[in-house]
Amino acid sequence: MFKPLSVLDVTFISHADSDDTMPDICPYLEYRDESDDTQFETERAYCTVTNQFVQPMRADICNDRYGLSHDTDCEIYLDHVE
Ligand code: SF4
Repeated sequence: MFKPLSVLDVTFISHADSDDTMPDICPYLEYRDESDDTQFETERAYCTVTNQFVQPMRADICNDRYGLSHDTDCEIYLDHVE
């Protein structure tokens, strides 16, 4: 017989799913809100390998978004770990 899930059941399932699907991010990625003499309103993606801020499209790779992955799609990462 069908038994509806309680709120606690749904909360447990939700946490279990999020742990399994959490994407990795590049270990060389940081977020900074300032450069040498400029303060930004929001934090920006920063690559600690190149010591440069990352363009938004590359930040998708750094954050493993949209099916992209830093350990297969970033030539900077691949060159650095070899
Ligand atoms: S540019 Fe490449 S190496 Fe740098 S933080 Fe992003 S994924 Fe990592």
